[in-house]
Amino acid sequence: MEKDILANIHSFETMGTVDGPGIRFVCFMQGCPLKCKYCHNRDTWEIGNGKKYTVDEVFNKILRSKPYIEASHGGVTVSGGEPLLQSEFLLKLFKKLKQYNFNTAIDTSGSLPISKTIAELLTYTDLVILDIKHINNKKAIELTGVSNENNIKFAKYLNDNNIPMWINQVLVPGYTDDPEDLKILKEFLANFSNIKKIQILPYHSLGKYKWKELNLKYPLQNVREANEDDVNKAKKILGI
Ligand code: SF4
Repeated sequence: MEKDILANIHSFETMGTVDGPGIRFVCFMQGCPLKCKYCHNRDTWEIGNGKKYTVDEVFNKILRSKPYIEASHGGVTVSGGEPLLQSEFLLKLFKKLKQYNFNTAIDTSGSLPISKTIAELLTYTDLVILDIKHINNKKAIELTGVSNENNIKFAKYLNDNNIPMWINQVLVPGYTDDPEDLKILKEFLANFSNIKKIQILPYHSLGKYKWKELNLKYPLQNVREANEDDVNKAKKILGI
Protein backbone atom coordinates (compact mmCIF):
# COMPACT_ATOMS: atom_id res chain seq x y z
CA MET A 1 0.00 0.00 0.00
CA GLU A 2 1.21 3.51 -0.84
CA LYS A 3 2.35 5.45 2.21
CA ASP A 4 0.38 8.57 3.11
CA ILE A 5 2.19 11.87 2.60
CA LEU A 6 1.78 14.12 5.60
CA ALA A 7 1.73 17.88 5.40
CA ASN A 8 2.62 20.35 8.11
CA ILE A 9 -0.23 22.82 8.23
CA HIS A 10 -0.39 26.00 10.25
CA SER A 11 -4.15 26.56 10.10
CA PHE A 12 -7.30 26.58 7.98
CA GLU A 13 -9.74 29.32 7.10
CA THR A 14 -13.15 28.23 5.87
CA MET A 15 -14.50 31.56 4.62
CA GLY A 16 -11.59 33.27 2.85
CA THR A 17 -12.66 36.12 0.60
CA VAL A 18 -9.36 37.61 -0.65
CA ASP A 19 -7.43 34.55 -1.76
CA GLY A 20 -9.08 33.96 -5.12
CA PRO A 21 -12.57 34.23 -6.61
CA GLY A 22 -15.65 33.52 -4.48
CA ILE A 23 -15.48 32.07 -1.00
CA ARG A 24 -12.33 30.03 -0.45
CA PHE A 25 -11.32 27.24 1.83
CA VAL A 26 -7.75 28.31 2.65
CA CYS A 27 -4.98 25.99 3.89
CA PHE A 28 -2.10 27.91 5.44
CA MET A 29 0.86 25.62 4.97
CA GLN A 30 3.67 25.69 7.51
CA GLY A 31 7.23 26.72 6.59
CA CYS A 32 8.72 29.55 4.55
CA PRO A 33 12.20 30.11 3.09
CA LEU A 34 11.73 33.89 2.97
CA LYS A 35 12.10 36.43 5.74
CA CYS A 36 9.85 39.27 4.64
CA LYS A 37 10.23 42.21 7.02
CA TYR A 38 6.51 42.90 6.87
CA CYS A 39 5.40 39.29 7.33
CA HIS A 40 2.11 39.10 9.17
CA ASN A 41 2.35 35.31 9.47
CA ARG A 42 5.68 35.16 11.31
CA ASP A 43 4.56 31.98 13.07
CA THR A 44 4.43 30.11 9.74
CA TRP A 45 8.19 30.36 9.04
CA GLU A 46 9.60 27.36 10.92
CA ILE A 47 9.65 24.28 8.71
CA GLY A 48 8.30 21.18 10.48
CA ASN A 49 6.08 23.04 12.94
CA GLY A 50 2.28 23.07 12.68
CA LYS A 51 0.01 20.05 12.76
CA LYS A 52 0.39 17.01 10.52
CA TYR A 53 -2.45 16.03 8.18
CA THR A 54 -2.97 13.41 5.49
CA VAL A 55 -4.47 14.34 2.11
CA ASP A 56 -7.73 12.62 3.06
CA GLU A 57 -7.99 14.52 6.35
CA VAL A 58 -7.63 17.86 4.56
CA PHE A 59 -9.91 16.79 1.74
CA ASN A 60 -12.66 15.74 4.17
CA LYS A 61 -12.48 19.13 5.89
CA ILE A 62 -12.84 20.82 2.49
CA LEU A 63 -15.80 18.64 1.53
CA ARG A 64 -17.77 20.01 4.47
CA SER A 65 -17.46 23.49 2.92
CA LYS A 66 -18.44 22.36 -0.59
CA PRO A 67 -22.00 23.80 -0.54
CA TYR A 68 -21.01 27.41 0.05
CA ILE A 69 -17.85 27.12 -2.03
CA GLU A 70 -19.99 26.04 -4.97
CA ALA A 71 -22.73 28.60 -4.30
CA SER A 72 -20.17 31.44 -4.36
CA HIS A 73 -18.17 30.07 -7.33
CA GLY A 74 -15.25 29.85 -4.94
CA GLY A 75 -12.68 27.14 -4.39
CA VAL A 76 -9.66 26.03 -2.44
CA THR A 77 -6.50 28.10 -1.96
CA VAL A 78 -3.23 26.95 -0.48
CA SER A 79 -1.25 29.75 1.11
CA GLY A 80 1.34 30.00 3.86
CA GLY A 81 4.12 30.24 4.68
CA GLU A 82 5.27 29.00 1.30
CA PRO A 83 2.93 26.25 0.10
CA LEU A 84 5.25 25.02 -2.65
CA LEU A 85 7.68 23.72 -0.03
CA GLN A 86 5.18 20.87 0.32
CA SER A 87 4.41 20.39 -3.34
CA GLU A 88 4.21 16.56 -3.23
CA PHE A 89 1.38 16.75 -0.75
CA LEU A 90 -0.32 19.51 -2.73
CA LEU A 91 -0.09 17.52 -5.94
CA LYS A 92 -2.03 14.66 -4.33
CA LEU A 93 -4.53 17.06 -2.78
CA PHE A 94 -5.13 19.02 -6.01
CA LYS A 95 -5.52 15.82 -8.06
CA LYS A 96 -8.25 14.76 -5.68
CA LEU A 97 -9.86 18.21 -5.64
CA LYS A 98 -9.97 18.22 -9.43
CA GLN A 99 -11.78 14.87 -9.42
CA TYR A 100 -14.52 16.70 -7.51
CA ASN A 101 -14.38 19.80 -9.73
CA PHE A 102 -13.03 22.21 -7.15
CA ASN A 103 -11.42 25.43 -8.34
CA THR A 104 -7.81 25.44 -7.09
CA ALA A 105 -5.45 28.31 -6.34
CA ILE A 106 -1.92 28.69 -4.96
CA ASP A 107 -0.82 31.84 -3.17
CA THR A 108 2.98 31.82 -3.46
CA SER A 109 6.13 33.91 -3.42
CA GLY A 110 7.35 31.88 -6.42
CA SER A 111 10.73 31.72 -4.72
CA LEU A 112 11.46 28.03 -5.28
CA PRO A 113 12.92 26.61 -8.49
CA ILE A 114 10.24 24.91 -10.59
CA SER A 115 10.75 21.21 -9.87
CA LYS A 116 9.04 18.40 -11.79
CA THR A 117 6.48 18.10 -8.99
CA ILE A 118 5.75 21.82 -8.97
CA ALA A 119 5.36 21.81 -12.75
CA GLU A 120 2.89 18.91 -12.50
CA LEU A 121 1.04 20.58 -9.62
CA LEU A 122 0.59 23.68 -11.78
CA THR A 123 -1.28 21.60 -14.36
CA TYR A 124 -3.97 21.03 -11.67
CA THR A 125 -4.01 24.71 -10.68
CA ASP A 126 -6.64 27.18 -11.91
CA LEU A 127 -5.01 30.31 -10.51
CA VAL A 128 -1.67 31.37 -9.07
CA ILE A 129 -1.63 34.40 -6.82
CA LEU A 130 1.95 35.55 -7.13
CA ASP A 131 3.59 38.03 -4.82
CA ILE A 132 6.11 40.14 -6.65
CA LYS A 133 8.23 40.93 -3.63
CA HIS A 134 10.31 43.62 -5.31
CA ILE A 135 11.16 44.21 -8.94
CA ASN A 136 14.61 45.48 -7.92
CA ASN A 137 16.76 42.53 -6.90
CA LYS A 138 18.94 44.39 -4.39
CA LYS A 139 15.86 45.76 -2.66
CA ALA A 140 14.16 42.33 -2.81
CA ILE A 141 17.08 40.81 -0.93
CA GLU A 142 16.95 43.60 1.65
CA LEU A 143 13.19 43.15 2.12
CA THR A 144 12.87 39.34 2.03
CA GLY A 145 16.36 37.91 2.52
CA VAL A 146 16.32 36.22 -0.91
CA SER A 147 16.93 37.18 -4.53
CA ASN A 148 13.92 37.83 -6.79
CA GLU A 149 15.45 35.70 -9.55
CA ASN A 150 13.14 32.69 -9.03
CA ASN A 151 10.18 35.00 -8.41
CA ILE A 152 10.67 36.54 -11.87
CA LYS A 153 11.30 33.16 -13.53
CA PHE A 154 8.13 31.81 -11.92
CA ALA A 155 6.02 34.62 -13.38
CA LYS A 156 7.48 33.93 -16.84
CA TYR A 157 6.85 30.19 -16.50
CA LEU A 158 3.18 30.83 -15.67
CA ASN A 159 2.82 33.06 -18.70
CA ASP A 160 4.58 30.59 -21.02
CA ASN A 161 2.22 27.86 -19.81
CA ASN A 162 -0.97 29.95 -19.91
CA ILE A 163 -1.65 29.61 -16.21
CA PRO A 164 -3.84 32.50 -15.02
CA MET A 165 -2.27 34.67 -12.36
CA TRP A 166 -3.08 37.49 -10.01
CA ILE A 167 -0.19 39.71 -9.05
CA ASN A 168 0.08 40.99 -5.50
CA GLN A 169 2.42 43.81 -4.58
CA VAL A 170 2.62 44.76 -0.92
CA LEU A 171 3.07 48.51 -0.71
CA VAL A 172 5.49 49.33 2.11
CA PRO A 173 6.34 53.03 2.49
CA GLY A 174 10.07 53.55 1.98
CA TYR A 175 10.53 49.99 0.67
CA THR A 176 8.27 49.23 -2.30
CA ASP A 177 6.69 52.58 -3.14
CA ASP A 178 9.51 54.21 -5.13
CA PRO A 179 7.81 55.54 -8.29
CA GLU A 180 10.81 54.48 -10.41
CA ASP A 181 10.54 50.89 -9.21
CA LEU A 182 6.79 50.90 -9.82
CA LYS A 183 7.37 52.14 -13.37
CA ILE A 184 9.79 49.27 -13.96
CA LEU A 185 7.24 46.88 -12.48
CA LYS A 186 4.63 48.20 -14.87
CA GLU A 187 6.94 47.67 -17.86
CA PHE A 188 7.71 44.16 -16.63
CA LEU A 189 4.04 43.23 -16.20
CA ALA A 190 3.19 44.56 -19.66
CA ASN A 191 4.93 41.45 -21.08
CA PHE A 192 2.34 39.08 -19.65
CA SER A 193 -0.90 37.91 -21.20
CA ASN A 194 -1.96 35.65 -18.31
CA ILE A 195 -2.52 38.37 -15.68
CA LYS A 196 -6.15 38.52 -14.56
CA LYS A 197 -5.71 41.01 -11.75
CA ILE A 198 -3.06 43.23 -10.15
CA GLN A 199 -3.58 44.03 -6.50
CA ILE A 200 -1.78 46.60 -4.39
CA LEU A 201 -1.89 45.46 -0.79
CA PRO A 202 -1.24 48.35 1.59
CA TYR A 203 1.27 47.42 4.29
CA HIS A 204 -0.27 47.15 7.75
CA SER A 205 1.25 46.12 11.05
CA LEU A 206 -1.58 43.85 12.27
CA GLY A 207 0.77 40.88 12.43
CA LYS A 208 3.23 42.69 14.70
CA TYR A 209 1.89 40.94 17.80
CA LYS A 210 3.00 37.56 16.41
CA TRP A 211 6.62 38.72 16.37
CA LYS A 212 6.20 39.91 19.96
CA GLU A 213 4.69 36.60 21.05
CA LEU A 214 7.78 34.88 19.65
CA ASN A 215 10.04 37.35 21.49
CA LEU A 216 11.33 38.73 18.19
CA LYS A 217 12.01 42.32 17.26
CA TYR A 218 9.58 43.59 14.64
CA PRO A 219 11.75 44.72 11.67
CA LEU A 220 9.46 47.55 10.51
CA GLN A 221 9.05 49.12 13.94
CA ASN A 222 9.43 52.66 12.61
CA VAL A 223 7.69 52.26 9.29
CA ARG A 224 4.24 53.79 8.88
CA GLU A 225 1.33 51.89 7.40
CA ALA A 226 0.42 52.60 3.77
CA ASN A 227 -2.66 54.77 3.35
CA GLU A 228 -5.25 55.25 0.64
CA ASP A 229 -3.24 58.05 -0.91
CA ASP A 230 -0.16 55.79 -1.22
CA VAL A 231 -2.28 53.08 -2.83
CA ASN A 232 -3.87 55.48 -5.29
CA LYS A 233 -0.48 56.87 -6.34
CA ALA A 234 0.88 53.36 -6.91
CA LYS A 235 -2.22 52.34 -8.83
CA LYS A 236 -1.90 55.39 -11.06
CA ILE A 237 1.70 54.52 -11.91
CA LEU A 238 0.79 50.92 -12.60
CA GLY A 239 -2.24 52.00 -14.65
CA ILE A 240 -4.72 49.87 -12.70
S1 SF4 B 1 6.63 34.83 1.82
FE1 SF4 B 1 4.77 35.23 3.03
S2 SF4 B 1 4.94 33.88 4.81
FE2 SF4 B 1 6.95 33.95 3.87
S3 SF4 B 1 8.04 35.55 5.00
FE3 SF4 B 1 7.12 36.48 3.18
S4 SF4 B 1 5.12 37.28 3.81
FE4 SF4 B 1 5.84 35.80 5.39
